[in-house]
Amino acid sequence: MPAKKTARKTTSAGRSKKSPVILDEESFLARVDLALKDRREANLIVFHGVSLAQVRAGRGTKAADAAFQKLADAALPKISAGVLAGRLQPDRLAVLVAGKLAAAQEAAQKIHQALRQSSREPISTGVAGSAGLKDGAVELCRLATQAAAETWSQGNRTIRTRTSAGPVPLPMKPAPRPAGAELEAHYDRLFLLNRISSELFSDKPFADALVETSNVVLTLMDAAYAAVYFCDDFGAPHAARRHGDPAFLEPEAQAEEALIVAQTLEQRRIITIKGAGGGWQASPLTSITREGPSENGVLVVGFSKPPAPSAERDQNMLEVGRLLRNARLLQRNLQQQRVLAAVTEQSADAIIITDLASRILMWNSSAENLTGYSKTDLLGHGAEILVPGHGHEELGRLEDMARETGVARFDSVIQRKDGGLLPVEGQYTLLKDERGSPWGMVRVLRDITKRKELDRMKSEFVSLVSHELRTPLTSIQGFAETILDFGDSLEPEKRKHFLEIIVEEARRLGRLVTNFLDVSKLEAGAMNPKPKEVDLAALCKRLAALFKEHQTMAVFKEDLAPDARKVFADEDQTYRVLLNLCGNALKYTPTKGTITISSKVVGDFVEICVADQGPGISRDDQARIFEKFFRVPDKVSRKTPGTGLGLAICKGIVESHGGKIWLESEVGRGTKFFFTLPAMR
Ligand code: ADP
Repeated sequence: MPAKKTARKTTSAGRSKKSPVILDEESFLARVDLALKDRREANLIVFHGVSLAQVRAGRGTKAADAAFQKLADAALPKISAGVLAGRLQPDRLAVLVAGKLAAAQEAAQKIHQALRQSSREPISTGVAGSAGLKDGAVELCRLATQAAAETWSQGNRTIRTRTSAGPVPLPMKPAPRPAGAELEAHYDRLFLLNRISSELFSDKPFADALVETSNVVLTLMDAAYAAVYFCDDFGAPHAARRHGDPAFLEPEAQAEEALIVAQTLEQRRIITIKGAGGGWQASPLTSITREGPSENGVLVVGFSKPPAPSAERDQNMLEVGRLLRNARLLQRNLQQQRVLAAVTEQSADAIIITDLASRILMWNSSAENLTGYSKTDLLGHGAEILVPGHGHEELGRLEDMARETGVARFDSVIQRKDGGLLPVEGQYTLLKDERGSPWGMVRVLRDITKRKELDRMKSEFVSLVSHELRTPLTSIQGFAETILDFGDSLEPEKRKHFLEIIVEEARRLGRLVTNFLDVSKLEAGAMNPKPKEVDLAALCKRLAALFKEHQTMAVFKEDLAPDARKVFADEDQTYRVLLNLCGNALKYTPTKGTITISSKVVGDFVEICVADQGPGISRDDQARIFEKFFRVPDKVSRKTPGTGLGLAICKGIVESHGGKIWLESEVGRGTKFFFTLPAMR
């Protein structure tokens, strides 16, 4: 790959002349390898823009590259123009400095300090020396990157240095504070607190803000470790972030941490304790609510040496605690709002919010689906847009009731955008602010078409069942009473005829009851067919015999294909299907006609057809013909006894065998019912 040179854009021509060109990773490594081969002592400084990855994820590559460029602009002019600079990974700036390691460390420290104060992006800096190095540029970069990571985990207080032989301490003691140091320290403190505040109240994810906050806390408190705890809804503390020296994650240290957290929550004050490896300080994150103060977390910091008492640090602990508590409250409120919005949006019920003048302010997607109106259609309109003209008075009455009592429940109809009416049940609830003043109304509507349909079916069922059961019962009762009262005087012929009627009507009752039972079996999915070889020709013979006995006007014809005479099915259930279909064909064909049962093989199934020359069924009625209790609302059906259950049962039986049932029909041209059952293999 050819070496790509990244041209730097700078605002000042002077600076751009001074600063070195930033090479891409590949070219940089090649050039470092060359320098190392020259046997010159070479040291690498890596500046890691820690939050660049977040910038990249949140605002895109362009913004991250611009931030990287700012980092380079701030760092490079402070190093001599002769140095080699390159980009390691997207967020690390590497600079190769010739000469003694101590000089490179010193330079790195100065730049680190300057970057830390001038840049919004947190920077961690690491230095690697080439002494004893065997594996060239890649190894040198790895060491410097590792050193930068260590700097980060220590809160960027002092930068780390590594060579292949291990860590190298900084060359100098911390410089004594110059004159005006107090002012500088004050400025530092404000700067760091401001940094925490801008992190916590930024628009970045709260977890990311906590990462950077705990890092700054290390610097501010001069600590080696920091942890932030928040209490859950039941008051139990949970660590939201732990950061710093991994020694504090050892079991013994964790036990000390748990202890100081518990003590702080109990005593509601700053607590300082000694620990096996150093010391601890913790401060409660207290909220003052109407009900009184309540603890909602703890800020804990760990030190490598027992900390000397410091009023300034206590002040800092309280200050950071206050920031953390406020940020947490804000974040929880936002989260609750988001949850509420998501619940409202995903609710299956239509939810519409109006102001006190009944103007629509907000609504969820279910409201759009229910009403057919889009968001732009509804915004600002009065709620009466959803009510048919004759319902306006009722709407006013319900709204008045909600205003007076806080809530109004109702069963009503709404008018959709397309003009269609929809039965709904609903509730209007008055919305009040925290002072109890009403500001609007939430209207929850639920489509009850299905319930209404069910109600209709239930009442139809009751009247149908009572009618269907009453007819045979009346006959049975009438003829039985006649025989009882006039039995002796009746001619034997007549008496026999009456008894035959009683038996026939009793059978009819039996069939009705079986049908009702079958429907409940269907609903419970308990048809449980017991398949075996079934001879369709034999079933047709049984049917023909039955119909002959009934002296029907129709002619019964069997036309089964030779290879489609056997199915693998439950024999009784197959007979029930044929009986229902042929029975219907007879019932609904008032004139003389032919009823044909035919069959053919289609794949693994036998397709059976029952065709009649009756009145036919319209397209609209075809769509509902297999529904329970559905009967075509025409004269023929009205005159013919029936329950509307036969076809629903046929469908249930056929489908429980893995088959299908359908029909072809035209008004006045007869009907063909088809169904499939598994063929015999
Ligand atoms: P039932 O016959 O007891 O009413 P079904 O479920 O068997 O119930 O049939 C439902 C409705 O379908 C009948 O009421 C009738 O209106 C119509 N129907 C069924 N079969 C035919 C047919 N072969 N020709 C015309 N209409 C039919």
